[in-house]
Amino acid sequence: MMDDVREKLSTLLGPRGYTEDAADMAPWLTDWRGRYHGRAMAMVSPASTQQVVQIVQICAAHRIPIVPQGGNSGMVAGATPDDTGKAVLLSLRRMDAIGMDRIDEGLAVCEAGVILQTLHEALAARGRRFPLTLGGKGSATVGGLVSTNAGGTQVLRHGTMRALVAGLEAVMADGSVIDGTAALKKDNRGYDLQQLLIGAEGTLGIVTRAVLKTVPALIDRCVAWIGLDSPHAAYRLLQFLQDKAPDQLEGFEIIPDDTARATAAHLPGARLPLAGSHRWHVLAEWVQDRPGQTDPRALAEQLLADAMEQGLAQDAALSGSEAQADDFWRIRDSISEAERALGPALQHDVSVPVGAMPDFIVDAAAQIEQAYPGTHAIAFGHLGDGNVHFHVRAPQDVDAEAWYAGDGRTIGHKVYDIVDSYGGSISAEHGIGQAKLDELARLTDPGRMNALGAIKRALDPLGILNPGKILSLHG
Ligand SMILES: Cc1cc2nc3c(=O)[nH]c(=O)nc-3n(C[C@H](O)[C@H](O)[C@H](O)COP(=O)(O)OP(=O)(O)OC[C@H]3O[C@@H](n4cnc5c(N)ncnc54)[C@H](O)[C@@H]3O)c2cc1C
Repeated sequence: MMDDVREKLSTLLGPRGYTEDAADMAPWLTDWRGRYHGRAMAMVSPASTQQVVQIVQICAAHRIPIVPQGGNSGMVAGATPDDTGKAVLLSLRRMDAIGMDRIDEGLAVCEAGVILQTLHEALAARGRRFPLTLGGKGSATVGGLVSTNAGGTQVLRHGTMRALVAGLEAVMADGSVIDGTAALKKDNRGYDLQQLLIGAEGTLGIVTRAVLKTVPALIDRCVAWIGLDSPHAAYRLLQFLQDKAPDQLEGFEIIPDDTARATAAHLPGARLPLAGSHRWHVLAEWVQDRPGQTDPRALAEQLLADAMEQGLAQDAALSGSEAQADDFWRIRDSISEAERALGPALQHDVSVPVGAMPDFIVDAAAQIEQAYPGTHAIAFGHLGDGNVHFHVRAPQDVDAEAWYAGDGRTIGHKVYDIVDSYGGSISAEHGIGQAKLDELARLTDPGRMNALGAIKRALDPLGILNPGKILSLHG
């Protein structure tokens, strides 16, 4: 049977679209963090939606699992097959055309394999911007961004992928195509299948094209590095800034002092923008992307002067140039990389109600450090979205693998229990994949789990689409 499938797929796709070569497949069979390793019977790279349809039909006829993959930059091993070697790895990277026919409507039509950075560059040339960006932009593809409902640092003003997709085309498990690329503003033909596919991590359908909403290119921006003494102070500052001028505030990121210092020390030539010592730092960005808006630097100066007068911030440095703005962001964007150099750490991407986030940050860090002496817990990231990256560094000189297998497991449970006690989510941005499968089942109420399972069984009755991700129904 396998030989029959191989024959059909290789005939359909030819040498450019079909490989079983171990060296060709190797980079795509391990997740970005290097923690999960899988095997596949073949990697297929279709060039069109029609070829995706035929691949799905061939696989469905033989009940072969399909693992869709974009840039493989996901953080929860959602694009990594299991180790049975039965699955077909379906790479969308060859489908990378960008259509600008509807740019006058503000829409960019992208095939699933378009890389985010390439899209940014193509839109800049047309005076437009896709206002979602993240550290993995050089690898992450439109199909992956849609399928993980990616967020990033601009969510405060523009929302996640859910808010930025105007239309989708997807191939379903039976090989049928749902075409929503007309991108209708109003469409009440029953359930919202588009939103169902966004964030489905390839378990309900294969995204082949997306119509994305764009905004005007930036005219100017100003980035501020702000010193303050607690996450509570940062939250009060955020409320003040949002009350005064929400339209131009695009980012609001929080960083603890020791993390900011360790990151600056790790980066050649970098130093923190503020000379004084502050227990916490905030990186805020104001933009101008429409004529008539206030100059962002003047806006930041005025707002921060008022904030300091009211005791909402201790000190602030404003970027004086694009290069300086990039330098400020480089520190924020390099936290994970700098942390890797410091030794083993566990990463948790969590959300709680925005107003509860300051308490969560302080409380969760104290609980973890007390229960696991020698660990260091830090929270940084998107305070304005109620989403932080909660990282727990191992005690010094531990054996990394032994720590991950031992305390690492129970620390994860405890962090998620605390998140749950705040009414939060164990996955704010990255999804469930296979990394959080057990925790989702453990902490989710039966009603929600039953609904997720019923949707999966209804849309993929053979269980061939990315089995063992989000749910273990067919795993
Ligand atoms: C340095 C770094 C920083 C990051 N920062 C952020 C951040 O701030 N916010 C954030 O949200 N994410 C972040 N990420 C995670 C990652 O970039 C996103 O999850 C991204 O959306 C993944 O895109 P991808 O093309 O690499 O998808 P992959 O990793 O290839 O796949 C991710 C999931 O989507 C499925 N999938 C992929 N393509 C398709 C398709 N066409 N149809 C159906 N299913 C598909 C896969 O099966 C898998 O389940 C970061 C990653 C890195 C490496």
